[in-house]
Amino acid sequence: MALRTIRLQGDPVLTKTCREIKEMTPKIKELIEDMLDTMYEANGVGLAGPQVGVLKRIVVIDIGEGPVVMINPMILESSGEQTGDEGCLSLPGKAGVVTRPDYVKAKALNEDMEEYIIEGTGLMARAICHELDHLDGHMYTEKVEGSLHDVTYEEAE
Ligand code: ZN
Repeated sequence: MALRTIRLQGDPVLTKTCREIKEMTPKIKELIEDMLDTMYEANGVGLAGPQVGVLKRIVVIDIGEGPVVMINPMILESSGEQTGDEGCLSLPGKAGVVTRPDYVKAKALNEDMEEYIIEGTGLMARAICHELDHLDGHMYTEKVEGSLHDVTYEEAE
């Protein structure tokens, strides 16, 4: 198990646009394992490449239903609306209210670079939107309604 350092808001790497992954390599396989380890260790539900300083289009998500690896992900459809608290491992101890779609359909490549379709509602839809935003250099704080508030560690996403 190898943990990577989670970059915090203010680090310029979190504002950059990530590049697509063209082929699976041993280095990217290792990155995926490290990202999952790092996310679980931090009790997060999602982690994006830039959050560990890697400007590649890759995210990992686990909302408690098992790990999801998304390479070069793209949202195909979204609908509905949900408004609720959102947090980020790059801004520990804080949360803020963000409105997101309540349903998202996305395509991505898996660890074998095979395309698949994923649909999510509720927290999964929120996590997909949040993590994909990171790949284009955006933090949820840009979308917060009102101000950020403090949360205990366990409540942070
Ligand atoms: Zn985040």
